[in-house]
Amino acid sequence: MDQTRDTKAVFNQSPPFVDIDLFALDRPLADAVSANGGADAAAELSDFGRHWGSAAMAERGRLANENIPKLKTFDAQGHRRDEVEFYPAYHELMAHSAHAGLHNSTWNEKGEAAGGASEVVRAAKFFMAAQVETGHLCPITMTRAAVGALASDRDLRGSLMAVLGTRSYDPAFAPWQTKRGMTMGMGMTEKQGGTDVRANITRAVRVGESYRITGHKWFMSAPMSDAFLVLAQAEGGLTCFFMPRFEPDGRVNAIHFQRLKDKLGNRSNASSEVEFDSAYALRLGEEGRGIPTIIQMVSLTRQDCAIASAGLMRSGLAHALHHTRYRSVFQKHLVDQPLMRAVLADMALHAEASTALVMRLCRAFDRAPADKLEAAYMRLLTPAVKYWICKSAPGFLYEAMECLGGNGYVEEGILARHYREAPVNAIWEGSGNVMCLDVLRALSRETEAAQAVLRQLADQARGLPGVSETAEFIAASFTRADAERYARHAVEKLALLAASAALNAIAPDHAALFAKTRLAADHGALYGACDLADNDIRNLLERALPT
Ligand SMILES: Cc1cc2nc3c(=O)[nH]c(=O)nc-3n(C[C@H](O)[C@H](O)[C@H](O)COP(=O)(O)OP(=O)(O)OC[C@H]3O[C@@H](n4cnc5c(N)ncnc54)[C@H](O)[C@@H]3O)c2cc1C
Repeated sequence: MDQTRDTKAVFNQSPPFVDIDLFALDRPLADAVSANGGADAAAELSDFGRHWGSAAMAERGRLANENIPKLKTFDAQGHRRDEVEFYPAYHELMAHSAHAGLHNSTWNEKGEAAGGASEVVRAAKFFMAAQVETGHLCPITMTRAAVGALASDRDLRGSLMAVLGTRSYDPAFAPWQTKRGMTMGMGMTEKQGGTDVRANITRAVRVGESYRITGHKWFMSAPMSDAFLVLAQAEGGLTCFFMPRFEPDGRVNAIHFQRLKDKLGNRSNASSEVEFDSAYALRLGEEGRGIPTIIQMVSLTRQDCAIASAGLMRSGLAHALHHTRYRSVFQKHLVDQPLMRAVLADMALHAEASTALVMRLCRAFDRAPADKLEAAYMRLLTPAVKYWICKSAPGFLYEAMECLGGNGYVEEGILARHYREAPVNAIWEGSGNVMCLDVLRALSRETEAAQAVLRQLADQARGLPGVSETAEFIAASFTRADAERYARHAVEKLALLAASAALNAIAPDHAALFAKTRLAADHGALYGACDLADNDIRNLLERALPT
């Protein structure tokens, strides 16, 4: 021990993990993008990765979360204002995401699927942006997803795309028709029921060509959106509506925010409780067809939940690897301590498989319009992937945080924020059990197509340890009379099989390790307990973050 050291000197701390290329440093991501049709976008994604990996973007993320949105319900004279004020850093994040097309690049100018690898390329950007700031991605994802539901009204969709289709972010509180760019939100959840939206009591009354909506929503995020897709009971039953912030004559629509939620995480994003006092709205789709209409939006937001959670886990892993490569304990870098290596390698395997799986899912979104098997993959796997990835993220981030010791737990680092952020992706857009029930629904309604997907997965993972036993377990579980009670286990196995298949197309050696430790063996709840050889550990860590 050097007794002459200046006790105020800072040493044995890791340097900030910023000013990096989030794409180039992430081989599992680059390979997954390439394997799923996005190879041509490598340079564009690297530009994006450098920009979002900069210290300036990290600082925006910090500021937007430390200075949370404020509701201004009334002005000084008592007139209703119903505006939410955001810190400038939030607007800057929105502008950067809009500029990169995160809110619209999977659509063409008419609002139809853009085709090519647009889903995969956008997903790679979304995955990287989530590593920097996830709260602002809520309105970004809802805007993109709303276009899916607008397919029910092509005229409305056409007019909206003239504004929604630009890459400008325009935060002005003004009618959407007058703006350079716009965002959209969604109002389904009421006090008495979120999952069970049939229990909605908000009412819609037809007045000529439009409707007047009276009632409430218990959660309605991104309240400064320019318009919302809202569910309400019309004469013909539960119906989907397009509700703009301004009426056609320019008056502010009667969308009255009661308060903002005080949330565990997701703090840069505002989530409101709202009353509609005879608010103006247009019907989207037929009366009584509200759920099938809005589900077109929800399927896309579920996809984004999975992408964002995979991105959060990637960020946790990268920070953990970075830190442990600098920090020494007992005269040895943490990353060289056998027990820490076992934890990090196990996490690297989970993150790599998650990345491969979400990108494979996005390829299905790209190809679904022209390929029935891909459409069936998308239908069956979206809830399964959301279930497994979003529910594994909080535990994963907790472990990543612990790799940084006490530094992981304090707010100056990003991991405390990631950890608080992670659970929401599992809760909103259909919680865990609801995702499992949705997998069962797909199996019962589109049995043949779903079985074709299961066969394809087993084929693509053939030869990996534990595949045939897993495929048999899944088939047997889903055909039980009491399948609902056992659905969690079966859906988890389905996601693990799909992850093995997706990884097998990219990194067969790592797919074999994943299958050996997750399909052939019971992995257990924590990281670091599975049997990996030294050489495998070295390869996993080097691939996750090159030295
Ligand atoms: C930060 C945040 C922002 C949100 N923003 C929005 C928004 O912008 N718009 C919007 O519409 N909603 C929003 N929500 C609401 C969210 O979508 C709902 O909270 C979610 O869908 C669950 O609904 P619930 O809260 O009513 O819970 P419930 O429906 O009461 O569910 C409670 C639990 O029961 C489980 N469950 C439900 N049914 C079954 C069943 N049949 N069998 C077994 N288990 C079951 C669920 O999985 C869940 O775990 C937001 C939520 C949060 C936390």
